[in-house]
Amino acid sequence: MLTDYHVHLRPDGKGTSAEKFFTSDNVARYREAAEEAGIAELGVSEHIHRFHAALDVWDHPYWCQNAADDIDEYVEFVREETDLRLGIEADFVPGREDQMANLLERFEWDYVIGSVHFLRGRAVDMKGAFDIWGRGESPDKVWKRYFETLAESARSGMYDIIAHPDLVKVWGDKHACPDADPRRYYEAAVEAFAESGVAVEVSTAGLRKPVGEIYPARAYLEMVVEAGCPIALSSDAHEPEHIGYGYDQALELLGEVGVTELSVFERRERRTEPIG
Ligand SMILES: [Zn+2]
Ligand SMILES: [Zn+2]
Repeated sequence: MLTDYHVHLRPDGKGTSAEKFFTSDNVARYREAAEEAGIAELGVSEHIHRFHAALDVWDHPYWCQNAADDIDEYVEFVREETDLRLGIEADFVPGREDQMANLLERFEWDYVIGSVHFLRGRAVDMKGAFDIWGRGESPDKVWKRYFETLAESARSGMYDIIAHPDLVKVWGDKHACPDADPRRYYEAAVEAFAESGVAVEVSTAGLRKPVGEIYPARAYLEMVVEAGCPIALSSDAHEPEHIGYGYDQALELLGEVGVTELSVFERRERRTEPIG
C-alpha cells in the first residue's frame, strides 16, 4: 500500500478559487496521477486558512487575505462527489487550541494534519511581509522555537499526522540554518510525538524546495523510528503532477531506516499497512 494524504486540490496563491478546483474533473486528474504512481490511498487536506471559518480561530493578516471559501462546501464536495479520503491541514496556533478544536470537531474527517508554518505570527517558509528570517533573530532561536511549537502541536491531541516536521529547514541556506548538530533540536519534538502517539509525516515536498531534501532529515527520521512513532507518507501536492513526487527516494530512505509499514486513516482511526 502507498498513500498520499497531504494533498491540495489547488495551488496556493491568487486565482485558485474553489469553483475552479473543487470539481470532479480536477479530482479525476489527481486520481489518474495516483494510479500511475501506484498510490491506492489518496486523500485531500486543504489549508484551513482558505476557509472563512478559520478566522474565528486566528485573525492573522495572511489568513484574512486568504479566507475565501466555505468549509462546509469543501467537506460536502469531497464526501459526496469524490472517493477521496477527507482531510484538512490545520495550523497549530498556540493559545487558540480551543477555537481550533471546536472548528475541527464540526466535521467527520478521515484525518487531521497539523502543521507549524508560523511562529508568533511570522512564517518560516514564506518570503515577504510575514517572513521570520532576516529580522535579527538567530537561526538557533528560530529552530528552537519551531521544534518546541511542533512538540506542543503533537501534545495538543488535535492531530492525527504532524506535517513536514522540519519545515524550518526549507530555505537550506546559511541565514536560516544553525551551525549546531540539528539533533539537539529534534529531541523535544520526537519525545512529544512518541508520547502523543501521533503519526509523523515523511514528505517529499522538501525535494521541490530550495533545501532539496525530504522532510524529515534522515537523522531526525531515525530518531522518530527509534521512538516507535507511526509514519505517514505524502507529497504535499498542490497539482496533479506532484502526486507521489519523489516517492522512489522516500521509499529508499524509509527502507534504509527500517520502516516497513505506513499509517492508513479512516474516520480518524489509524491502522498500518505494509509498504508496497
Ligand atoms: Zn504545510
Ligand atoms: Zn500542505
